[in-house]
Amino acid sequence: MSMPSFALVRPRAVDEALEHLARHGAEAMLVAGGTDVVPNLRAGLFSPRVVVDLKGLGDLSGITFDRERGLEIGALATLTAVAESQLVRQHYPVLAQAAGTVASPVLRNMGTLGGNLCLETRCRWYNQSYFWRQSCGFCLKKDGTVCHVAPGGKRCWAVWSGDTAGALLALDAEIEIAGPAGRRRLSLTDFYKNDGVDRIHLGRGEILTRILVPATMAGYRGTYHKLRIRNSIDYPLAGVALVVKVEDGVCRDARLGLVAVNPAPVLVREVESLLVGQRFTPELTEAVVQAVVRTGKPLTTSMSTPEYRREMLRVFSRRALRELWRENGSH
Ligand code: SF4
Repeated sequence: MSMPSFALVRPRAVDEALEHLARHGAEAMLVAGGTDVVPNLRAGLFSPRVVVDLKGLGDLSGITFDRERGLEIGALATLTAVAESQLVRQHYPVLAQAAGTVASPVLRNMGTLGGNLCLETRCRWYNQSYFWRQSCGFCLKKDGTVCHVAPGGKRCWAVWSGDTAGALLALDAEIEIAGPAGRRRLSLTDFYKNDGVDRIHLGRGEILTRILVPATMAGYRGTYHKLRIRNSIDYPLAGVALVVKVEDGVCRDARLGLVAVNPAPVLVREVESLLVGQRFTPELTEAVVQAVVRTGKPLTTSMSTPEYRREMLRVFSRRALRELWRENGSH
């Protein structure tokens, strides 16, 4: 589990970082906080010749809010900064809550919001040492030809295991990506491919630079519920992020994001059509729960069983709805 050899470059500006990526192509790898990349390098999952360290790009760590433009967060803002930001806590509390559940305080001090959105997908057959993977048999995500989770198929079901993406999907966030052709904006829902190997729409020569949350979502009530083995540190094994806007007991808007059960974080689109214009009832809650369970597809990718994770999706969706329902005084 020792670190492989590579050249480390530390650009001071986005353009300089892009030049490194253009020069080294497939042999280059980006690192921000390193909390995901470093363990993966040590496990032999990647062997880049050049690692481009983004931490020196200081202008990508700000957090600003404007009533017209909404929230803008630099991709290098740490998860601690996001969780503790008064702007985020006041206007988009579900995002602060989700960021505050990532791993442990030490890892949140290092890990960045951009890095959390670009995590590698995870699987118990993949996140192991080279020795372990060689002994048990490589799989098609790395060095092998079969999937041990779904042996008959030819695709990888490794799971998207970040916390903040569900909250940001629920908040209708966009991201800004810098590349050789300039900067482009992309809805976060279009960023993920739902493929355990080729997981995100980020080209080799591109860098995620900013996260943008619309002003129209400011003030929505929200909550994030997360399943993990050890509450003090672990990745999510299932996560539900819900935001709602309720006026006079009637739901005016609602969005629900799921993480850690599919190869991508997913927005459960049915939730909006089920809830908008309705008053909350137990029957409505159960309809939402069914929509969530139809969308979340946990498999045997983790140490917890799919049945338990699916059951926790039910529990979390119910709890989230009741919690926001209570907060809105509409029961
Ligand atoms: Fe490997 Fe299958 Fe797990 Fe993907 S889902 S990492 S292919 S075992």
